[in-house]
Amino acid sequence: IVPKIFFGGKMMTNIHPKDELNSLIFSGVQTFLRLPHQTDPHQLDVALVGVPLDSGTIYRNGTRFGPREIRIHSATVRKYNPAIQTNPYENLRVADYGDIDVNPFSIEDAHLKIEHGIQAIIDADTRPLAIGGDHSISLPILRALARKHGYGQLGMIHFDAHRDTSPEYFGQKYYHGSPFRCAIEENLLNPKKMIQIGFRGQTSDEKAFDFQIEHGITMIPIEEVFERGISYVGQMIQELNDEGQFYLSFDIDVVDPAYAPGTGTPQVGGLSSFQALQLVRSLQGIDFVGCDLVEVSPPYDSAGITSLLAANLMFEILCVL
Ligand code: MN
Ligand code: MN
Repeated sequence: IVPKIFFGGKMMTNIHPKDELNSLIFSGVQTFLRLPHQTDPHQLDVALVGVPLDSGTIYRNGTRFGPREIRIHSATVRKYNPAIQTNPYENLRVADYGDIDVNPFSIEDAHLKIEHGIQAIIDADTRPLAIGGDHSISLPILRALARKHGYGQLGMIHFDAHRDTSPEYFGQKYYHGSPFRCAIEENLLNPKKMIQIGFRGQTSDEKAFDFQIEHGITMIPIEEVFERGISYVGQMIQELNDEGQFYLSFDIDVVDPAYAPGTGTPQVGGLSSFQALQLVRSLQGIDFVGCDLVEVSPPYDSAGITSLLAANLMFEILCVL
């Protein structure tokens, strides 16, 4: 990202989170990562935008409370990342952009509002990091991004216990199991530059992977992640990086329910929280034009551990950006 030096003829200064040494982390108005609330996207390089939707869930709901709860737990995240020697706020102007007012009664209207909300961010040459919300929110985000960055161009790094390429369910096309089937059918992504990491669990039949095979989507199921190791997965991701542009979609359910129980469709046998951090760190050098972190459902959480992990993953994603 080229730093924006001037705005309105003025030299722009860096934005820093509230200093934890001089203000209590358990007090005050909650924003993502204790950053200021900034609704003008032109002032930012990255907008942290909440998308409190759960109308697309088919099992447990509650992701509408994701952004609010992640804000609370993000207060404990500090500025400097010793593991990769990065302070993201030195190179990026990031703030809490607020939430998109989605329509909780109509998923089509909610998606329209998300698309318009994201459009306003990317029209300002600012990158959205969307905090969900259920996984259906990726589709309207990709609709806005493809309009700007080209149809059929964007690659995607997708962490998930599920493939999210399911066909219609009870006559409903748009829900959290289908965003990437719709995105490919609408030519929003380049499936040859798509990698899905962490799939596990059962399928309805042995033909479940036909869509992936037909479109040339790379899949690394969880068995392969564990047999070949995190650094192998990092290499596979980097092999896909062709200097083009990518989208990052991180479904918290890629993490084992022991570490992330607060989610809509938990699946046993997943990553540890540390492995999730390692995988995000392996994304350095990829040009992400937008990202999401989805499927955190606070009502099903225990002691806030899922929201706490999500808050840390949000910070790690900023370090990669
Ligand atoms: Mn998903
Ligand atoms: Mn999932």
